[in-house]
Amino acid sequence: MSRQPLVGGPVLVINSGSSSLKYQLVVPVDGEVLASGLIERIGEVSGRATHTSSGRSHTIESAVVDHGAALRVLHDQFAEHGPDLDQAGVVAVGHRVVHGGPDFSTPVIIDDAVESEIDALSPLAPLHNPAAVAGIRAARARFGVPHVAVFDTAFFTGLPSEAKTYAIPAELAVRHKIRRYGFHGTSHAYVAGRAAEVLERPAVGLNLVIFHLGNGASVSAVTDGRAIETSMGLTPLQGLVMGTRSGDIDPSIYPFLRDAAAMSIADTDTMLNHRSGVKGLSGVNDFRLLEDRMTEDPAARLAFDVYIHRLRHYLGAYAFLLGRLDAVVFTAGVGENSPMVRAAALAELTEFGIRLDPDRNAPRSKDPRIISTDDSGVTVLVVPTNEELSIARQAQQLVG
Ligand code: ADP
Repeated sequence: MSRQPLVGGPVLVINSGSSSLKYQLVVPVDGEVLASGLIERIGEVSGRATHTSSGRSHTIESAVVDHGAALRVLHDQFAEHGPDLDQAGVVAVGHRVVHGGPDFSTPVIIDDAVESEIDALSPLAPLHNPAAVAGIRAARARFGVPHVAVFDTAFFTGLPSEAKTYAIPAELAVRHKIRRYGFHGTSHAYVAGRAAEVLERPAVGLNLVIFHLGNGASVSAVTDGRAIETSMGLTPLQGLVMGTRSGDIDPSIYPFLRDAAAMSIADTDTMLNHRSGVKGLSGVNDFRLLEDRMTEDPAARLAFDVYIHRLRHYLGAYAFLLGRLDAVVFTAGVGENSPMVRAAALAELTEFGIRLDPDRNAPRSKDPRIISTDDSGVTVLVVPTNEELSIARQAQQLVG
């Protein structure tokens, strides 16, 4: 990237996981994706990198020892299959960072101090922040343009005190930064903005409940473009039933399973994060499979019902917290693609002014759309999320 960057040029968005690195080269103004890719099995004996540009995908298999090596692979893939990163006029690299702690409420330009601060937050996100820092270090060493961190927690740093505070000894909470942080914030913020556009209403005065239903799942209550509640907490384990996570559960499960099943804290933690949710109940976490099995398999039916029950529980609670509900919005893999989940979540709520239109709910589409009837008091929308575009826009705004 030796050429002088052009403002308005593309942003390279990087999402570093512990063993994978996803990237997109995005034009912030119109959302055009010039290239995207995934580097998998970082640190394992055999790695794999897939790069897509100009409608064609290219995959190579080779060991990728660490995030520095992954960035080298990324650079080589662009050099070989295009577009040429040195000629693309990249204005910034935007990094998705899961945990911004209590203080990072907006995107920031990354310098050494910010990098250290993100690293220092690792106890709050031991799986995610160290991976983000590894990706940031490697990318900063390679690309001499501004690097911007965009935090998953940022949208929720302004939660009201009564929403973000756990009822535990105050001194302990302060000492260890224990509070409800919330996650998926980039998606909730983006979808809130898009919903206002679709409804042709200003964010001010608009009360939304937003369901982000992917493998991970969370719901937020938004008013005036600000979140006042969200279902995830200190970690992304709290709240809704998810693909493999339990969501809300009595914390006494830890001592109970220690005594009843000789399970350590680590055993129970792994079970709640990776072997629970709809997978724990039914054996599958892909909603396409779950829905196929529901008519014959009582376990799949129960998993679906428990999942839906939790959605309705939160919808009711958040509608009351907001005091008035203008719209319910569905996003992410399940929210965007499952008419069955949306219909079940909002069934028999006409007394509360919510009327889904089955003909609008059924079709599949990549476009934002209204799926309630014209006379529904509460509008129901499907709004596809786009976290990469949101990160690209926030990065561009900061450096522009
Ligand atoms: P994440 O980003 O959290 O990994 P996604 O937002 O990509 O997850 O969502 C993944 C989920 O979306 C999976 O459970 C998958 O089954 C579900 N999904 C994708 N397509 C469909 C579909 N057509 N019908 C129902 N669920 C779907």
